[in-house]
Amino acid sequence: MKFSGFKVIKEALTGHKGWTPLWRDPEPQSAYDIIIVGGGGHGLATAFYLAKTFGQARIAVLEKGWLGSGNIGRNTTIIRSNYLLPGNEPFYEFSMKLWEKLEQETNFNSMVSQRGIINLIHTDAQRDAYRRRGNAMRFAGADSVLLSREELREKVPFLNYDNARFPIKGGLMQPRAGTARHDGVAWGYARGADMRGVDIIQNCEVTGFKIEAGKVLGVETSRGFIGAKKVGVAVAGSSSRVMSMAGMRLPIESHVLQAFVSEGLKPTIPGVITFGAGHFYISQSDKGGLVFGGDIDGYNSYAQRGNLPVIEDVLEGGMALMPMIGRARLLRGWGGVMDMSMDGSPIIDRTGIEGLYFNGGWCYGGFKATPASGYAFAHLLATDRPHDTARAYRLDRFAKGYVIDERGAGAQPNLH
Ligand SMILES: Cc1cc2nc3c(=O)[nH]c(=O)nc-3n(C[C@H](O)[C@H](O)[C@H](O)COP(=O)(O)OP(=O)(O)OC[C@H]3O[C@@H](n4cnc5c(N)ncnc54)[C@H](O)[C@@H]3O)c2cc1C
Repeated sequence: MKFSGFKVIKEALTGHKGWTPLWRDPEPQSAYDIIIVGGGGHGLATAFYLAKTFGQARIAVLEKGWLGSGNIGRNTTIIRSNYLLPGNEPFYEFSMKLWEKLEQETNFNSMVSQRGIINLIHTDAQRDAYRRRGNAMRFAGADSVLLSREELREKVPFLNYDNARFPIKGGLMQPRAGTARHDGVAWGYARGADMRGVDIIQNCEVTGFKIEAGKVLGVETSRGFIGAKKVGVAVAGSSSRVMSMAGMRLPIESHVLQAFVSEGLKPTIPGVITFGAGHFYISQSDKGGLVFGGDIDGYNSYAQRGNLPVIEDVLEGGMALMPMIGRARLLRGWGGVMDMSMDGSPIIDRTGIEGLYFNGGWCYGGFKATPASGYAFAHLLATDRPHDTARAYRLDRFAKGYVIDERGAGAQPNLH
């Protein structure tokens, strides 16, 4: 079934009887060429590009819950490529370019909206740092604009410019950044992969790996053993748990990240705004809710819910930045489990076990990476070579000292 304006009109006139499920619900086969563990955004995107771009067949995605139950359906939907370091920026800009054609490629409305992101500047030193970042972005083919205080005030007049503690002096803007409907991204990739023959198997938890003579032969699951020539793991917050079943200890810790949404309000916030003096960021959904968040909860956890101190911290940031937010009523808050790596950057690499590949360490920034991560992981699985933009995302970089420490925060996940 292909979506189009014509199809919508036809269905409207014929009682909506022609819509079919977006993907099949197949029984697992006894073996596949490639198994992807984890039906989040990254796993589904990997399967999609494996089938569509790299011509692979006999692929399955195994998901322990339902599609969208993990971080892909819990994030604050921000997409951007405003990174500084050469190991990161080309990768995230590649992702932006894939976002820009995602809906055509998947024939699915994922509500990609390039409404821009503004990182606020509060000190002269910060302006210098953002100028450098903006130049690095342009160097990698991305877009960036340094806004003066007056230019900023025209775009977002409601900020607290004269806050004595955190005066706002300008901003770094990426106009092509924005938001996308997070679960719509998962559904679009799932449908696109399914249409190309990928088996998406929900309620199928991987409980172990069969490894003989240093080679992976398949996975044990809650629905029995499934053989595979290659297994790619993309389980985000469950990375350490799942890879420990293959005897691996990862440079990753799991932490909860919370997010919040207010009641629906009239259009106020034109794009995404991030506070430069604390951890707070905000955008407005198409339904009108103010969507915002801040820091991770600073302790290890696999629970998909957080605690009150971070809620207080986030709301303090919001009040300092735009006091009017104090008049809005909070509708919901939720949490997701982050796979925090020790340098704040991800891993897309082979492992020491033949046929076993790993994708993870996305911290709180993996949504924007979904297309490039899927593409690069598919490239690695299909060709056994890293994609050009993902060469730096090696698992052994921590042992060898080639870390990609975008924030210079060191091996403290709670600071990234
Ligand atoms: C509150 C919040 C806000 C965020 N905001 C942003 C943002 O604005 N921008 C941004 O870029 N990023 C953001 N992120 C981060 C982003 O959502 C994640 O980095 C990204 O979604 C992780 O990749 P994924 O989609 O594949 O993960 P998930 O959707 O979590 O997918 C992993 C899947 O693996 C499955 N799984 C786990 N164990 C097993 C097993 N044993 N067998 C089978 N399946 C298994 C899980 O059920 C899950 O569905 C945010 C995250 C949160 C929680």
